[in-house]
Amino acid sequence: NRRIVLASRPYGAPTTNDFRLEQQPIPVAGAGELLLRTVYLSLDPYVRGRMSDAPSYSPPMEIDDVIVGGTVSKVVQSNHPQFQAGDWVVGQAGWQDYVVTDGQGIIKLDSVIPHPSYALGILGMPGFTAYMGLLDIGQPKSGETLVVAAATGPVGGTVGQIAKLKGCRVIGIAGGAEKCRYAVETLGFDVCLDHYQSDLAQQLAKACPQGVDIYYENVGGKVFDAVLPLLNPRARIPVCGIISQYNATALPDGPDRLSLLESIILKKRIRMQGFIIFNDYAHHFGEFIQQMGQWVAEGKIKYREHLVQGLENAPDAFIGRLKGENFGKLVIQLGNE
Ligand code: NDP
Repeated sequence: NRRIVLASRPYGAPTTNDFRLEQQPIPVAGAGELLLRTVYLSLDPYVRGRMSDAPSYSPPMEIDDVIVGGTVSKVVQSNHPQFQAGDWVVGQAGWQDYVVTDGQGIIKLDSVIPHPSYALGILGMPGFTAYMGLLDIGQPKSGETLVVAAATGPVGGTVGQIAKLKGCRVIGIAGGAEKCRYAVETLGFDVCLDHYQSDLAQQLAKACPQGVDIYYENVGGKVFDAVLPLLNPRARIPVCGIISQYNATALPDGPDRLSLLESIILKKRIRMQGFIIFNDYAHHFGEFIQQMGQWVAEGKIKYREHLVQGLENAPDAFIGRLKGENFGKLVIQLGNE
């Protein structure tokens, strides 16, 4: 049983030295337990937060803990009445080949899921995040303008496509020409701008002649700076993530612009609200899976995976993700289906 543990807490960007690959005997399922073999492992930005011991919405990992992560597994052996060998399940086995569990938090894959790994993306946590953050906090209405960055990832790509289904004009922001082309040609965004261009703010202003009604916040930093002057009265900002800041070790230099931000929020009556998907919306998961399952089956929502083979490649893939090296939902395949 191979597993990857937290070797040290990163300062700034994580390095491969912060991870350690270990070998252990395959565990044995006891009475009432299941042995699961991980087939797909999800690599998500929140793991960076759990590697640090700064206070957050969930406790940090400890040194030598297996790195946390959502997984799709096959049941190898079951002493549990609700599961059988061969079942596909989704859970949180983390970065390891095998795990024994008492079944708590383990869910059989829903029949609407067309491919097992989709339970980690479009029909799992990131898709659910896009759906609830946009529909509940963003409240999109036909004719409005929405801006979203990390536009080809599982959250941003889905946000933009749902907003199009709701009749919005959708402006994506992504890293590089290839991602931008994909957002427009495949996902159906109206425009997609490359955040590596130095005139991003001017290009965004041109792309939003009617201002911005919804800014779905995934990245923060210079993208937020470019959006801020364009916000319309009563704009909504679901604050989903600020990935550009996850490796920061201090607040940015420069003038304190908090009072500017507060005065814009006040005068334009802007609603800016953070959310943590399962803490806030777990009770909506059933509704989400039915609706999204239907959209995916009908081809109304497109989804792209970035599949990497081998547990040993998870640290490099994870480090790359924080720099935009992934193109689509990053998933590690550990073994055969
Ligand atoms: P992605 O798969 O889209 O990966 C992250 C992407 O962020 C990168 O590919 C890159 O895309 C972009 N990015 C990284 N650094 C920067 C930067 N400095 N400036 C602009 N863009 C950058 O991630 P997800 O779809 O899984 O997650 C998107 C966001 O949603 C994250 O902030 C994540 O933390 C958050 N999230 C929040 C949840 C919640 O409950 N609140 C739940 C799940 C996710 P590109 O190359 O296009 O720039």
